[in-house]
Amino acid sequence: MRIYVDNAATTKMSPTAINAMLPYMSETYGNPSSLHSVGQAANEALADARSRVAGVLGCDAREIIFTSGGSEADNQAILSAARLGERRGKRHIISTAFEHHAVLHTLQKLEKEGFSVTLLDVHENGLVTAEQVADVIREDTCLVTIMYANNEIGTIQPIAEIGALCRQRGVLFHTDAVQAVGHLPINVREQNIDLLSFSGHKFRGPKGVGVLYARRGVALTNVIEGGAQEWGKRAGTENIPAIMGMAAALEEASAHRSESGKRLSVLRDRLIEGLSQIPHSAVNGDTRSRLPGNVNFCFEGIEGESLLLLLDDKGICASSGSACTSGSLDPSHVLLAIGRPHEVAHGSLRLSLGEENTAEEVEYIIAAVTEVVAYLRSISPVWRELESGRKEFMLK
Ligand SMILES: *Cc1c(COP(=O)(O)O)cnc(C)c1O
Repeated sequence: MRIYVDNAATTKMSPTAINAMLPYMSETYGNPSSLHSVGQAANEALADARSRVAGVLGCDAREIIFTSGGSEADNQAILSAARLGERRGKRHIISTAFEHHAVLHTLQKLEKEGFSVTLLDVHENGLVTAEQVADVIREDTCLVTIMYANNEIGTIQPIAEIGALCRQRGVLFHTDAVQAVGHLPINVREQNIDLLSFSGHKFRGPKGVGVLYARRGVALTNVIEGGAQEWGKRAGTENIPAIMGMAAALEEASAHRSESGKRLSVLRDRLIEGLSQIPHSAVNGDTRSRLPGNVNFCFEGIEGESLLLLLDDKGICASSGSACTSGSLDPSHVLLAIGRPHEVAHGSLRLSLGEENTAEEVEYIIAAVTEVVAYLRSISPVWRELESGRKEFMLK
């Protein structure tokens, strides 16, 4: 038995998406830049995928750039806004402390170039407000970049309000919508979004393909130089099979979004309720303004990594929500940003539900996590100190 609850890391591809890719690996294998018929067939497919993606976002096909994924789109969005800003003497950027590293590391690079970056504090509930942005906007602010939904704790930011504020103040607004697209309502015009990034593999499409939406009039800076593909803004022969798979997955996810969201939020709420019974535990992030499939907990007195390994033995594939894969023992920057102390942040667990998860699986997960947490505590020196009162509990 295997229960996969790590859909925020990546999803299993949908059969629709796989089938949409296949013809572009066999019959329609051309290079869209070729003038002959084989190339032109691929070019027509590319144009079709572009207008379908634009249809879902509520923008024009001309405003869509296909990239290698969410990370590349984030990099290009931020670097482009920075270059536009500095030409007008504006070198201040606003973001938050709990962005994805594709955003945070790009901002660090710009700081080394002399940009000044304000990272907003995130409230304990995992939310930032438009007022917080308004308080720090300056004359020289060129970009506000704030994620739509957080990848670790699933909290949903007030994107439309922030977008309206930025538009009114004449500041470009970028949102990393990698966790949101296919899962939450989106309309770049209504939400006043200038730049938006997303990735195919977070909504049952293929890996290694993504989108940068750039509002008409927002000039992009190339991250990859070479040929004239993607309006001259992103060189390299287009990955037609992946683009076709992503477009199909996006339409499918959007069509089932509301029904699927309802089903997943019931499973999510049951998981939160069940895991809350574990003593000295706490859910991370607001429970209402939250992705339908996201559950994130801290359990005091244990190590998240040990929990993951023992859950894997029980057939459960989950995540600690932090970037521990890189071999670092640092706790998640997201959990620290919402004010969890280091010790508590170490004992975290992210369960991100997807299309294939069932109510029976949820009950199995609750029982398994309860058992494994109790076991790990029984062998934990930290837990002994907490229980004996030599150390104080931080979670109720
Ligand atoms: C997964 C993810 C990314 C990176 O996307 P890739 O396509 O894997 O490069 C960026 N931001 C968020 C919020 C993500 O969840």
